Amino acid sequence: MSERFAQVALPLPLASSYTYRIPETLGDRVVPGARVVVPVRRRELIGIVVEADSAPPEAAARDVLAAPDDETAIPAGLLETAHWVAGYYGAPLGLTLKAMLPGGMWGESTVVATLVGGAAVPGGVAGEVTDWLERRGGEAPVSMAARALKRPLWDVLDRLARVGAVVLRVEPPDTEAATLTERVVSLAADPPTLLERDGLFRRAPKQRRLYEALEQLGGSALVRHVVGQLGFTPTVLRGLEERGLVRIGEAERVRDPFADFPAVPPPATLTPDQQAALAAVQSVDPGDGAVLFGVTGSGKTLVYLEAVRRVLAAGRGAIVLVPEIGLTPQTVSRFRGAFGDQVAVLHSSLSDGERADAWRLLRRGERRVAVGARSAVFAPVRDLGMIVLDEEHEASYKNGETPRYHAREVAAVRARIEGASLILGSATPSLDTMAQVNRRLRLLRLPERIGARPLPPVELVDLRVAPKVSGTGGIGWSEALDAAIVATLARREQALLLLNRRGFAAFLQCPDCGEVWQCPRCSISLTVHSSPPGLRCHYCGHEEPLALTCRKCANRVQQMRGFGTQQLERLLSERYPEARLARMDLDTTSTKWSHQRILASVEAGEVDLLLGTQMIAKGLDFPNVTLVGVVDADTGLYLPDFRSAERTFQLLAQVAGRTGRGPKGGRVLVQTRHPAHHALVWAAQHDAEGFLREERTLRESPPYPPATALVNLLVTGTSEPAVGQRAAELADWCAALVAKYHLPVTLLGPAPCPLARIKDRWRWHVLLKGPSEALGRIVRYAATRLTRAGDVRVVIDRDPVSLL
Ligand code: ADP
Ligand code: ZN
Repeated sequence: MSERFAQVALPLPLASSYTYRIPETLGDRVVPGARVVVPVRRRELIGIVVEADSAPPEAAARDVLAAPDDETAIPAGLLETAHWVAGYYGAPLGLTLKAMLPGGMWGESTVVATLVGGAAVPGGVAGEVTDWLERRGGEAPVSMAARALKRPLWDVLDRLARVGAVVLRVEPPDTEAATLTERVVSLAADPPTLLERDGLFRRAPKQRRLYEALEQLGGSALVRHVVGQLGFTPTVLRGLEERGLVRIGEAERVRDPFADFPAVPPPATLTPDQQAALAAVQSVDPGDGAVLFGVTGSGKTLVYLEAVRRVLAAGRGAIVLVPEIGLTPQTVSRFRGAFGDQVAVLHSSLSDGERADAWRLLRRGERRVAVGARSAVFAPVRDLGMIVLDEEHEASYKNGETPRYHAREVAAVRARIEGASLILGSATPSLDTMAQVNRRLRLLRLPERIGARPLPPVELVDLRVAPKVSGTGGIGWSEALDAAIVATLARREQALLLLNRRGFAAFLQCPDCGEVWQCPRCSISLTVHSSPPGLRCHYCGHEEPLALTCRKCANRVQQMRGFGTQQLERLLSERYPEARLARMDLDTTSTKWSHQRILASVEAGEVDLLLGTQMIAKGLDFPNVTLVGVVDADTGLYLPDFRSAERTFQLLAQVAGRTGRGPKGGRVLVQTRHPAHHALVWAAQHDAEGFLREERTLRESPPYPPATALVNLLVTGTSEPAVGQRAAELADWCAALVAKYHLPVTLLGPAPCPLARIKDRWRWHVLLKGPSEALGRIVRYAATRLTRAGDVRVVIDRDPVSLL
């Protein structure tokens, strides 16, 4: 009999898979999708079989040692999806699987052998193994047994497993280590006054920064977070502890915060519009899809719920994707409320072990619904009947590293492979999705809000001419917005204030010589932060103290320009001192579940004014929010990216949709200096279709998606000349390919990216435009031929969502 070989993928930074020989005894189990134990140098790792009948390698291949599972870890449909992702996005299959699978399922995981009582125990080495296991209490890792008995045991254990004398189980490396407590630091006494602070911290500015950072985080934080992410040293922390200013203690680790979240029962009856939409969703053929285009507050969630309920009733399972799990606790709790224990919530705070558990439960069909962000599109739901993708227009559905997949595209492909139906929902569908209507997608509408509530009136306030309140520093504050806030507070209602820029000021500049403080590692100005005070880079995290003198001309005055959420918070606290404020941006939500804490206090009515970045614009449904103020609608309007108008429209329409959801109604005020921009005009009229129509024509010339497809080839490296040269070679290489195969593809570049440097790496790009199939050919060529040269890397970004 001829020898057989398998390709095995490992979650290592390797581009290709490894070839192993399949021992005859394992032949039936080494099939695509199965987990196998393989030797890698001097270790044993768990990998995934991606091909079971591959050609013999040139060098001698080592043996697959074991195949511990009865059933393949990756179902066939998912493996096929992985092959599609790798091919379409030009990514190595190993990295693709790495993005799909919980880390705890393979790699460093251990195989544990458990004795099964009652089976006939053979003699010889097998008897020695079972005796040893018996003495160990019936269970032990295989590697430990092999060390104790001083010989490899895989063959013996495989035989024992087949006669039912032992069971082999793969355990993630962190199961034991997953202790349930963590060290937490909290403020010990009443906060010192400003004056006391100056004395207390005169010689310890770092302690002061840490102290104030803790205040900012609500009085306590995980030690891991303070030391790891905020970058304070353990010495600074100890200093504060020794002076009795903070306490360090143990706190139970929150494993599943959603478990305590109220499981909201759904409304009992569907409106006629919802019924019609549900009927249409149900008539979508397996493998096909629909867009549920429903205005904000039209009750899309209930349509998803009922559709999923019917999928479950038919004995099948479903995946529900949301843009960011932390920002959508309401959607999550609605699914929990409807389906209880059938739901697995896949969120980023799960440990590897918990993630692997969730995978197993879904794979076995013990959980039927997976709810999660982007990567949940790969959840191994059994007999997948439906994939729901809520807020389909969100850019966070695109993965930011290899493989740079878009969950919406993957969902469409997976639905086709597995015969599921795909439901994309949004009040502001993307141009990309709308271009697929009447091709891959059907269009369904929910044109009205529940209870025939009107959409809130939106007023554009032209900051160039509108009367303004004085004494607000650099923040343009119209009398109209001021009066609206005062009136809202007087009625004891709530307001949301959107400012899509975090930090205190946008940048620091010398008024004399004009020098702007830039990040030493990125080509971007540093943002001024007030708490803790300093200059910070939003791309690489670089921090430096707030400068008082110009580094160029030594001028002793430096000016802050532009404003962010921290400055807005200060303005609000000064101007509306009686209002209870909460701020939600990346800086206040860096600890686990801080989103939920903030949103829960808004829901409980403990907050009058919630200010924040785009984080506050999504999915929230609070009936007492009767005012939405957009402090500066222009922050993203003129970014050098063809989607900047689309993003602005979506953000405004979404945030406007957060009000008028209850019987008290609501209104929206949008401050801008560009009131005639089409994104603002259509948003003010709640006319998504008007916007889509106008924006679609603007994408014709020069052509941008959906009028054409795009591939962005990004070249990065630490030497600028090397990067530029590689980009030029790359452009020539593409041009030659285009000419040779007469591809209808246009090349733009090479050129430096708008963000010319991030984290010390220079960035150039070559942009390819053309029909998707033609670009696909180039991607396939590029994937196998663009190898890394020294430190210069080439990244293939197909269907990019950002060109910055
Ligand atoms: P969308 O996601 O379309 O913005 P939601 O699904 O959040 O809208 O629904 C808006 C509000 O209407 C929610 O508070 C929801 O509970 C309520 N709602 C939805 N459907 C119904 C219904 N059939 N009867 C009563 N209330 C409903
Ligand atoms: Zn930086």
